[in-house]
Amino acid sequence: MHAKIAKNLGIFKPMINDVAYIGSYPSVTKIPSNAMPQYAFVGRSNVGKSSLINMLTDRKALARVSKQPGKTQMINLFAVDNAWCLVDLPGYGYAKQSKKMRNSWNKMVRNYLLGSNQLQLVFCLIDSNIPLQTNDLEFINWMGSNQVPFAIVYTKIDRVRKSKRPSQIPSIRRSLLEYWEKLPPEFQASAITKQGRDAILNYIADLSSAQMKK
Ligand code: GDP
Repeated sequence: MHAKIAKNLGIFKPMINDVAYIGSYPSVTKIPSNAMPQYAFVGRSNVGKSSLINMLTDRKALARVSKQPGKTQMINLFAVDNAWCLVDLPGYGYAKQSKKMRNSWNKMVRNYLLGSNQLQLVFCLIDSNIPLQTNDLEFINWMGSNQVPFAIVYTKIDRVRKSKRPSQIPSIRRSLLEYWEKLPPEFQASAITKQGRDAILNYIADLSSAQMKK
């Protein structure tokens, strides 16, 4: 009986009621421990990470916190509905990034990805409007070699020209498939149209509840 009722219930749109800034940390060892699963967002600078985070959480300027001077190179944590942690990682590939900055990014982000016990999944953002960049590929392949679980989010999907829609994502996928036998979960997102919001949030909810049942 219940199964029949459940079938007819449909699916709620995911809602977020509360987002609280936890803090900004220079290294994984400084992050205060809590039981919440962590979901990290990372990508090349300008990929649309702040816009995506604001869109997902329905907060106009949440990710602005992470853009304040001194915090762009930090690991920024937010508690979502007291259920999971959104981890805003610093972006890579700034045009003006010095070698020293690149090294410190590598150290901080890679140590976090390898060292956080709470990390469930990384959402790696890729701009759907341009070909796959070398630094995206290097980072993704590094996650693969180190068995860091990740999903791909193709950002700014609204901006892909109509004529290019059939070929743009397949061409990025082809570049990845030169190195990968099978791709991880993929999402297409737009901060403008909110495409991808429900799929990403439902995916996080599913993973978190599967984790709790373990
Ligand atoms: P971040 O550096 O990765 O945090 O990127 P931002 O969120 O600051 O976005 C970089 C630029 O891309 C800004 O000019 C945004 O307005 C634009 N942008 C971000 N997301 C989208 C999107 O989904 N669609 C469109 N059309 N523009 C976007």
